[in-house]
Amino acid sequence: MTTENKNIKIAYLYEDLMNTYGDSGDIKILSYIFKEKGYTTTVDNISLDDDFDAFDYDFLFFGGGQDFEQSVVAQDLQHHKETISKYIESDRPMLGICGGYQLLGEYYLTSAGKKIQGLGILPLHTIFKADSRMIGDTKYETEWGTVTAFENHSGRTYFDDKEVLKPFGKMIEGYGNNPDEGFEGMRYKSTIGSYSHGPLLRNMNIANAIANKILENKKVTN
Ligand code: GLN
Repeated sequence: MTTENKNIKIAYLYEDLMNTYGDSGDIKILSYIFKEKGYTTTVDNISLDDDFDAFDYDFLFFGGGQDFEQSVVAQDLQHHKETISKYIESDRPMLGICGGYQLLGEYYLTSAGKKIQGLGILPLHTIFKADSRMIGDTKYETEWGTVTAFENHSGRTYFDDKEVLKPFGKMIEGYGNNPDEGFEGMRYKSTIGSYSHGPLLRNMNIANAIANKILENKKVTN
């Protein structure tokens, strides 16, 4: 008889480079929820030149970062395209915040006109508009209830396939993906992308939904 594995393994993609906006708080909150439920959590920083198999983990997290770090990370990330793509397609849980969310898409176009390739897993793209940064409090409605957070980005994200991608929330206050459409973030299978810092998972409705998904998934795959 095998005993249930009570450790949750989280891969924090480029924790050392994409950490400007306090998104590590999301991981702290998830670890707290797991502790309350009798689980331990280990977090591996997956950084430049590391070997990485997404299927070694119960959850992938990719936080926000500044433009320079993002362009460095974007290149290294291409090595992991296949494993992250398979992981997302097989309905495993992932959260990408801001810069991390943007890099799951096809590309982002900088204000200097430079096209930085994303992972190309999700049909979306981001266009930088340096002259109108979206900064401030946000509030929006999701499937799991209301979320309050904070945004700080120049990138405007647009979906290229609205059948495949669904918005994470509908804006009540703030911008979200862009100033034109009134939606925040993205959902695809068990992957969520969001512009929300604060951190996002101080919203316990979302934190619990993600934690439950991680535990559900762990039971299936153990
Ligand atoms: N540099 C990106 C932007 O401004 C991402 C910022 C972030 O991750 N907060 O859109």
